[in-house]
Amino acid sequence: MILILKTGASEDQVAHVIARVEELGMRAHLSRGTYRTIVGIIGDENRIREEPLRAIPGVAEVVPVLPPYKLASLDAHPEPSVVDVSGVKIGGGNLGMIAGPCSVEDEDRMFRIARSVRDAGANLFRGGAYKPRTSPYAFQGLGEDGLKLLRDVGDRFGMPVVTEVTDVRCVDLVARYADMIQIGARNMQNFVLLTEVGRTNRPVLLKRGMSATVTDLLMSAEYVLSQGNPNVVLCERGVKGFDPATRNLFDVSAVPLVQTLSHLPIIVDPSHATGRPDLIPACALAGVAAGADGVHIEVHDCPEVAKSDGPQALLPDQYRELAAKIRQMAELLGKTISPLPQALT
Ligand code: PEP
Ligand code: MN
Repeated sequence: MILILKTGASEDQVAHVIARVEELGMRAHLSRGTYRTIVGIIGDENRIREEPLRAIPGVAEVVPVLPPYKLASLDAHPEPSVVDVSGVKIGGGNLGMIAGPCSVEDEDRMFRIARSVRDAGANLFRGGAYKPRTSPYAFQGLGEDGLKLLRDVGDRFGMPVVTEVTDVRCVDLVARYADMIQIGARNMQNFVLLTEVGRTNRPVLLKRGMSATVTDLLMSAEYVLSQGNPNVVLCERGVKGFDPATRNLFDVSAVPLVQTLSHLPIIVDPSHATGRPDLIPACALAGVAAGADGVHIEVHDCPEVAKSDGPQALLPDQYRELAAKIRQMAELLGKTISPLPQALT
């Protein structure tokens, strides 16, 4: 940690800054420049991170040396992490291919969609049983019935399943049915929810909040990691933009950026990022080309009757075509798409 003092900080203030640093159990290294004086703090930065150092008279700026996310950082774990979702690996050269409808819907449809995405090469099946909707009048999900159905479909096709939890009261219930728990964009900073999923042993798919910085995202991951759950996969799903032509602004640069900061896998979700089926394939491929550890795509066999997010769903055939291109790109990049743990049918 480095303290940059104000121009014209008095000698009394400099002495007080040093005394305060020493009071905190650290050592101070004073350095006087032509215009500014700086105080280097020597010792474990994490011990004083939460101290209000900028409130010390004479201090203009506090510059941390280490990132505020300890466990999520490359310092903690220099090699890329591989998250194992019931046998399907994500990260470290393994691509997660998450596909399925936005919401869990009726049984026949779920079976049809699962079969089509599995045959196309998806290795994780998704569907929301609890939907965080902007309108309280919109479809809210099938709840526990939806979880049961998702589990049945996953078991039938040998695909691990991922589903969202929106409420801290449902964490244990969702963890019972799901192989991976999704924290949606709207809950990325629901710290109580993050803490609770951190106490489960289920891998977590953590989506970037729509107004969240990359640091915010990594700090949210830190909540989960700090509870003892090391299995976090990040997801770039677009941030709020100014142009209504796309649903969100796909921040593909977040992928390589995160990889310079963290060992956690990061995947892309071009479905929510663009909201447009005609843009999804190009953005999915861009994400993989940028180094993403997987792709999360909504697929529906009849988007016009979908309970949620129909307008952004890819048809099964469109998904098959895209998945084939992703496979080619994976090969080009020397990456692997984890096969399904057990193919039942
Ligand atoms: C979803 O995955 O269906 C979803 C609601 O995503 P997000 O939280 O990214 O909006
Ligand atoms: Mn959706």
